[in-house]
Amino acid sequence: MAKKSIRDIDVTGKRCLVRVDFNVPLDDKGDSMVITDDTRIKETLPTLKYLLEKGAKVILCSHLGRPKGQRDPKQSLKPVAARLGELLGLTVGFAEDSIGEEAQAKAQALGNGDVLLLENVRFYAGEEKNDPELAKQFAALAEIYVNDAFGSAHRAHSSTAGVAAFLPAVSGLLMEKELAYMHDELQAPERPFVVILGGAKVSDKIKVIDRLLDKADTILIGGGMAYTFKLALGESIGKSLSEPDQVDTAKAALAKAKEKGVKFLLPVDNYIVEELNFKDKTVGPGRYTTPGEGIPDGWEGVDIGPESVKNFSAEVAAAKTVVWNGPMGVFEIKDCAKGTFAIAETIAENSSCKSIIGGGDSVKAVKKAGVADKVTFISTGGGASLELLEGKELPGVAALLEK
Ligand code: AMP
Repeated sequence: MAKKSIRDIDVTGKRCLVRVDFNVPLDDKGDSMVITDDTRIKETLPTLKYLLEKGAKVILCSHLGRPKGQRDPKQSLKPVAARLGELLGLTVGFAEDSIGEEAQAKAQALGNGDVLLLENVRFYAGEEKNDPELAKQFAALAEIYVNDAFGSAHRAHSSTAGVAAFLPAVSGLLMEKELAYMHDELQAPERPFVVILGGAKVSDKIKVIDRLLDKADTILIGGGMAYTFKLALGESIGKSLSEPDQVDTAKAALAKAKEKGVKFLLPVDNYIVEELNFKDKTVGPGRYTTPGEGIPDGWEGVDIGPESVKNFSAEVAAAKTVVWNGPMGVFEIKDCAKGTFAIAETIAENSSCKSIIGGGDSVKAVKKAGVADKVTFISTGGGASLELLEGKELPGVAALLEK
């Protein structure tokens, strides 16, 4: 995607408004909010260090949580300023507001290499409505707009898209990398190109399936969504998760796969249980079905079985490009996580393959399986990466300058 990045413009001495994703998990300790996972802060460091080395004046903005246009001290970005300061080894200033006099005065006072973090942009109701007036006020703080918040790029909000109408707009290094892997690499992927899709619902991913049926050599379907395909094939699925209203869509996808010559594999065996308690993370006694056996009444499929793992792994082992989105089972529960972890490990073992893990739960699974450092790329954006895979234009990306 030929979008300009911070590498393509002169940022020295310029006030750069950088939209980042500092939507970190916070733990309420009563008198303070504590950051429980600073991964998202760390992911912005390459961009921030680049800008600081070039002597830019950095003004950071982000959303945190869903304050819905109201000021909420429990969703303040203030703790992030302190943590970012520790990571960068400098003092990060903080403005109690993301627009207005105080923010403007602090932005104007920045020297080269200084960093200022603005308060949560979602304290303004206009943010999520992409209010141009609010966007204009964000823009008034800076001379350049940098979007490094890939995880929010599928939203047309004032700080992710609207602001770009008022300033020269470029991508940060994280955004640049996301677009390179989640988009550019997949335009002409090295083959065999194998796509693994799982997770709960067909309806969430049918557009991705449809689009990838035009590109992939092989599609492997696991997780809850496999059972809607099983229904479409007339197989018994017991009380497994399914979407009967998506059966026709599933049939159409199966027909398209046949027409296009795309190998389309469903699980041939499953781990099944009679009871699943997601809240307590427990399941009743379970067993594997034998290949070809349907799922009996009263039982539900919660993972793919060993034969399916074998079939899927054989495809992954021969692949040159793999995209994975969605777990193979209810991986949050240990007894139902074997299939997901096995797939994560097979991907990691194929060192001659470009492996792209597309956001959300598959990222958690890769990390839980301990193989995160053995895959080529892990996307930071769940929704945004799915929309890119669907072939959609993301508003936060469309707004950036062309190269
Ligand atoms: P998604 O956000 O669509 O990728 O879905 C992820 C969720 O799908 C996870 O919370 C999994 O527990 C859930 N999931 C995966 N396989 C199954 C299954 N066989 N039955 C019910 N839920 C599943």
